This record gives sequence, structure tokens and C-alpha cells, in this order.
Amino acid sequence: DGDSELEFIHPSDLAPLFPRRPRDAHKGFFGHVLCIGGSKGFSGAITMASRAACRSGAGLVSAFVPEAIHALVAPGVPEVMVHSCMPEGQWTAIMAGPGMGRSATTREQVLHLLETSKVPVVLDADAITVLADHVAAIAAARCPVVLTPHPGEFAALFGLKVADVQADRFGMAKMAADKLGAMIVLKGAGTLVASSGRPVAVNMTGNPGMASGGSGDVLAGIIAGLAGQGIPPFEAACAAVWLHGRAADLAAAEKAQASLIAPDLVEKLSEAFRSIS
Ligand code: AMP
Ligand code: MG
Repeated sequence: DGDSELEFIHPSDLAPLFPRRPRDAHKGFFGHVLCIGGSKGFSGAITMASRAACRSGAGLVSAFVPEAIHALVAPGVPEVMVHSCMPEGQWTAIMAGPGMGRSATTREQVLHLLETSKVPVVLDADAITVLADHVAAIAAARCPVVLTPHPGEFAALFGLKVADVQADRFGMAKMAADKLGAMIVLKGAGTLVASSGRPVAVNMTGNPGMASGGSGDVLAGIIAGLAGQGIPPFEAACAAVWLHGRAADLAAAEKAQASLIAPDLVEKLSEAFRSIS
């Protein structure tokens, strides 16, 4: 019975997910997110992802980037602690992938994360595609794993054609969630969030103005920011795709879809948050 397996993401379901902010709250209440990404010539993606994690309410955000781009990333995000050696920390969520490059080093780092993390891991972009021949490592992870592929990354992970993914987005998202034991955020108009044994969530916010570089990096950061403050990963993914699309709709109403850039989404996150509380 197909229909009962689909659920729309409603803003009214999102507000109760957020931790309360008592008057005496301090940053330790809201988690510490680690964002891993970037490579030589690609410093923007991790900058936007880590800023989005901050804008989503994480208490602290650290980033780990290659030495070669440290001096480019750090001044762009003064609110983030940017490291060029793997930092130590009590992470509450870890995000990896934006701008990371499809190198053997990326694959090793991602496999290591999957083997060792006890906290939710959000994998985006290159951190997904490097696992094409290692999907068993996703299934074997003992932490919650959220994958945020666009249709091209989804196709690359499973050795499929993009057209075949798009022809059956619902079935594909469910198949991947069942096979990998992970939460699958299949992006694009009508983003789907799938997790084994639950209805697939469908998101209706967002617009084609988001079809420009960096949009997805912002989403990965939001998911990590929400999961890092203790929101269960499936709910964090659903809330994040709704907020991300809502931010884009607010930005498009003010500017124009054609001129949207990813930093506009980060900028409009505050207003998107206000529309659920
Ligand atoms: P990426 O390709 O990784 O930059 O991710 C693009 C982001 O923009 C995803 O969150 C998509 O769901 C979103 N997006 C792209 N195109 C559209 C569209 N036509 N309608 C709604 N959302 C879109
Ligand atoms: Mg992307």
C-alpha cells in the first residue's frame, strides 16, 4: 500500500524537536559538530557547510581542512574553529564530504569515520561517491549514518544511471535505506528522506533557484547542526531539508530564483527557523 508509506514534512511537526533554551543554557548544551572537507582549490563548500551548522543552533562547530586551504577557510568563518590536523573533541555529530575530492585519502578518512564513530555521521558529495565499491562499510557502521546524495551521487554509489534513479525516486531511496541501513536524503525537487522501517518523508519547500553550486553543502551542514544538538538523525534530516528549502523560498521571494547563491540560503536560515517556532 504505497500511499501510507509516504509522509509530507510539516513545519508544525518540527518545532517540538528542538531542544529548549533555558535562561541558564550554555554552549555545552547544544553539542559540538565536526565538519570535514575541502581540498586544494575547493575551500567554499566546507566554509558554507560549517557556517550552516552554526546557523542551525550547534553549540560549537569545528572544521578539519587540508593545510593548503586553512588560511582561506578560517577567516571566512570566524565562528568556526578551523584545524589543519585532525582535532580532538567530544563530537556530537560529524559531517564529511563537501569539497573533499575523490582521492584515496578521502576514501580512507571516510572508511575510518564509519568504523570508529559513535555519533551520527552525515556524508555528502565526494564522501558518498568514494564509497561506490565499499557500500558494505556503510551497513557495518555502528553509528547512525545519513547520506545526502543528489541523483548523480546516488547513481554513482550504486553503479546506476541517473535517469533510472529519477524514474523511481521513491523506490530507489527505500532500496538504499534498506540495503545500507542508513538514512538516505535523495535530493532534488521533492527531496525524499528514507530510513528502513519508516514511511518515506517528502519535502515540498525549495525551488529551482537552489540549482547552483553550494546549495547541497549548506544542507549537509544543517543536518549535522541539528543532529549535533541531539535531534534524532532521521528527524534532523527531515527538519533540515524543510528549513533549507524554506530559506531558499524566502531568499527567492526577496531576490530572484536565478540570482540565488548558496550563502543566501545560510543568510535566510534564521528567518526559516522563525517560521517553525
Ligand atoms: P547539490 O547538488 O549537492 O548542490 O544539492 C542541491 C540542493 O538544492 C539539494 O538540497 C536539492 O534538493 C536542492 N535543489 C536543487 N534543485 C532543486 C529544485 N529544482 N527544486 C527544489 N530543490 C532543488
Ligand atoms: Mg553537493
